[in-house]
Amino acid sequence: MTQFSDALALFAGHRRILVASDFDGTLSDHGPDLDASAPVPGAEAVINAVARLSNVTVMLVSGRRLGDLLPRFPDLAADVVAVGEHGSEWPDREPTQHPAVERLASGLDEIASAIPGAIIERKLFGITLRHRGVETGRIEQLLEETAAFLREAASDLGMTPRVEYGRGVVDVSLLSTTKGDAVRSVKRTSGADAVLFFGDDVSDESVFEVLGSEDVGVKVGPAPSIARHRVPDPRRVVAVLEELLYLRQ
Ligand SMILES: [Mg+2]
Repeated sequence: MTQFSDALALFAGHRRILVASDFDGTLSDHGPDLDASAPVPGAEAVINAVARLSNVTVMLVSGRRLGDLLPRFPDLAADVVAVGEHGSEWPDREPTQHPAVERLASGLDEIASAIPGAIIERKLFGITLRHRGVETGRIEQLLEETAAFLREAASDLGMTPRVEYGRGVVDVSLLSTTKGDAVRSVKRTSGADAVLFFGDDVSDESVFEVLGSEDVGVKVGPAPSIARHRVPDPRRVVAVLEELLYLRQ
């Protein structure tokens, strides 16, 4: 057996487990159009099947808002825990927008409006700048102008937003909450003995950072990561979940 299948078999042997995953680039292919992102074939079905096992909690944790993430899983089992905005948006908490979002977003709108393909998305606790559709030669200019604006805005606001440069996106967050915090919280509340987590991007590293020796972190794709295990693409994530289902049944 490989090191990964050993780790998966050990993980499946724990009494209570948490299976958590990012969405974009992890359960969906990393295409040019973020609005068109959908789970790869079999992803939603296997998530639901794993969620219906006893002593298993399944969690989706995404940078997207829940209102954007959940419609992409039209048949999602009701007991799957979904957390949006990198761990800040929870389904049972009143959604109130952070007062600084509009101020930052209107400044970023000005920068983005001059560069075709750049899109500013307002969230509850931050802003996402999407640049997958921007001509390669103009991305550097966009990122430089964005960074300069954010530096200035930080001194005006008297606070420093967290800025993460991901795959085709810049995520600006006004809260310090991370995906790692969210996964740790659900691990605690679900009473799970171990966590299996899949993620492909920079913000997912915050989860790999908080995993313990009993947990299994799986990086999706070739980017640098501190995760101990790796699969090439979302289809292999589905295959791993199918293997887990088999091991738990
Ligand atoms: Mg992702």
